[in-house]
Amino acid sequence: MTRNAELFERACQSIPGGVNSPVRAFRSVGGAPRFIQRAQGAHVWDAEGNRYIDYVGSWGPAILGHAHPDVIKAVQDAATGGLSFGAPTLAEIEIAEAIVARIPSIDKVRLVSSGTEATMSAIRLARGATGRNKIVKFEGCYHGHADSLLVKAGSGMLTFGNPTSAGVPPEFIQHTLVLDYNRIDAVEAAFAEYGHDIACVIVEPVAGNMNLVKPVAGFLEGLRSLCSQHGALLIFDEVMTGFRAGPQGVQGLTGVTPDLTTLAKVIGGGMPVGAFGGRADIMEQIAPLGPVYQAGTLSGNPVAVAAGLATLKLLAEPGFYDRLSAQTRKLADGLTERARAAGVSMCADSIGGMFGLYFSDSVPTLFDEVSRCDVEKFKKFFHGMLIHGVYLAPSAFEAGFVSAAHDDGVIQETLDIAQQVLEKI
Ligand SMILES: *Cc1c(COP(=O)(O)O)cnc(C)c1O
Repeated sequence: MTRNAELFERACQSIPGGVNSPVRAFRSVGGAPRFIQRAQGAHVWDAEGNRYIDYVGSWGPAILGHAHPDVIKAVQDAATGGLSFGAPTLAEIEIAEAIVARIPSIDKVRLVSSGTEATMSAIRLARGATGRNKIVKFEGCYHGHADSLLVKAGSGMLTFGNPTSAGVPPEFIQHTLVLDYNRIDAVEAAFAEYGHDIACVIVEPVAGNMNLVKPVAGFLEGLRSLCSQHGALLIFDEVMTGFRAGPQGVQGLTGVTPDLTTLAKVIGGGMPVGAFGGRADIMEQIAPLGPVYQAGTLSGNPVAVAAGLATLKLLAEPGFYDRLSAQTRKLADGLTERARAAGVSMCADSIGGMFGLYFSDSVPTLFDEVSRCDVEKFKKFFHGMLIHGVYLAPSAFEAGFVSAAHDDGVIQETLDIAQQVLEKI
């Protein structure tokens, strides 16, 4: 048995499924997960000493490359001064100021410890601020694992959905409407029927949890105008895209302004930090100023915030996102070309430092089209790449991530390996 398989077997004795978050378990691609021992720059090493070019990047946070010396130093310095105080610190002001300064729609921001907490809190706030109950989400968008969000579409377009997890009572999701991403007509219909009781629309402005799906022209603009017209709040869940798709997230790229934004992943630089923020009048509805309760023992943790601040500082360097986008585009275009040359129906797309890889003839824009991609071919590609030292997300429905450490050499090596693998698919 390999060392990875051995560790997985051991992990399964004491951890359900051997992992602390399900997608890590490789269940959708098969085989034993790689146990990571260390990481540096664009690479991770597993427990057997194998080196991989990493396109998971801790699912997004590792935008500077792993173990960037400035970030490690900031964490070490902060840790030396104590791990947690349960009282306010200067660093929390600094990270809040950095977020407010860079994302124009955010006047005030509250820190939490995960993306799940950020979206859950933002939805409670939207309900509290509007005095309404219903929320709209889209099939294929993931907003963390709060009860009211673990729901998939029902049978009819305007019927309420079904829980996607055991343990979620149907009553908990009876206020959640699940609609088709990129179909503004469905949202119009929902507002026509329930507009008076819709507190918010929550959306990944570029969807990164059903592979990568960009908004079609008019979709986000349509959400903005419907929300404004009906007095509902628009929440952009930029937990993945914030400081990843561009310096101001997707809102900066599209010019569509949400009322509330959720962040996590990149803003923690690899440590547990989430945030939600937006218009001052809405944010002032949360405790201690307002009636919407929200709290966290480790929120704004000094060590985590130090990693986030050091990361945000480096992201502000001129040209950072131009370089990152160009490298990611090189990868996506290169993969599409090699698939074409090998006669494989695969293509890729990118935005900022995120990319999608689709086993289909064209880039999908709808959840149904994503679902129809060839998962069996993806599995073969995934394992072929893994054996040759390229670590992709172990699922056909996840976005990929490029970091500032993915230089031309790393991208070229990836494309050379992809060519070999694609020729054998
Ligand atoms: C990752 C993610 C979340 C959940 O964040 P966690 O930190 O895993 O709780 C929420 N929304 C989006 C868009 C995400 O990508």
